[in-house]
Amino acid sequence: MALPSVSGEPAADGSDCVGCGRCCHHPPNTASLLLADEARMGEPLLTRLTVIYDRPPHFRFMKNDGERCAALDLRVPGEYPCGVYAVRPDGCREVEPGSAACLEARRLGHLGTSTGFHRPR
Ligand code: SF4
Ligand code: SF4
Repeated sequence: MALPSVSGEPAADGSDCVGCGRCCHHPPNTASLLLADEARMGEPLLTRLTVIYDRPPHFRFMKNDGERCAALDLRVPGEYPCGVYAVRPDGCREVEPGSAACLEARRLGHLGTSTGFHRPR
């Protein structure tokens, strides 16, 4: 189920992110991992929350649960904190609040194709 769009620009300090979570929604895969991400995450979480594609070059992704990343912690309705925040992939860290990718995600209700991940200074 796609999320509705969110209006307005989020606070630069990320304080609106838990109530938004749109950039953690993107089917069929939300976030990919490189070697540094795998080392940071560690084997138990890699086994539980990631998947390696069958086809070359065998990229590893966070598992998706439908349209969202399976690492989202959805225990509180309407809140979308990352369940692996301290060890989340670098790609997730690049989506800064107020960046082009963030604003597109808020408009679409899920991560889109924007390549502008960093907030304009
Ligand atoms: S889309 Fe923007 S405001 Fe929403 S969670 Fe991602 S970075 Fe935060
Ligand atoms: S790992 Fe965390 S920050 Fe990255 S997409 Fe999944 S829930 Fe969002």
